Amino acid sequence: MTIDFVWQRCVDGYAVVKNKNEGVHYIVPKTGRAECFRPFDIHSAILCIFSEKTNVSGYVDFANKFGLLNHEAAPELLSQFELQSYEFRTMLELYNRGNLNAVAANFNKLKGRDIFLQFNTAHDPPTLCYSATNLLQAMWLQFGEMIIHEEKQEMCALCNEWFAVGPTTNRRRRRFNAKRSFCCDAHAKRYEYINRKNT
Ligand SMILES: [Zn+2]
Repeated sequence: MTIDFVWQRCVDGYAVVKNKNEGVHYIVPKTGRAECFRPFDIHSAILCIFSEKTNVSGYVDFANKFGLLNHEAAPELLSQFELQSYEFRTMLELYNRGNLNAVAANFNKLKGRDIFLQFNTAHDPPTLCYSATNLLQAMWLQFGEMIIHEEKQEMCALCNEWFAVGPTTNRRRRRFNAKRSFCCDAHAKRYEYINRKNT
């Protein structure tokens, strides 16, 4: 199944502001200029990128690329970013340690809300698509897909970008004897070239 998901982001970026009455911080779009985009077409490892964000500049950096989590334009509590990033981090750790029962228990308890199914008849035969109401739900969908397809996420040794590997991604997992992963052949060759020069 594919994740059919369109989201919005502010083309002028995001900022953190303090609400004086409530005494809490929000991440807000800097302007009303927004564009629609398909996050999962841009990057295959969004949940991994998100899970690595652990401070304010990281959360803003994420929002600049992928927008907010729960609503397209409404101010989002900074604490939401903190909490949700921590959740993804925890779940990825459990998954990487092979603790699938703990992953499933946590996932089933919290993550399935507001996800719906649709037939897409543009394909022949028709396909079933998942859809989600917000980016957060869509990332949990991606997490679920990752597990059932035994995907992993690896980081390119040259550009430090995350990318998904596994049977459905057209990218093979790193071999047991390989020390490094690369997002593409060009980066593998470039890395080799640089390191040959340095030794
Ligand atoms: Zn790369």
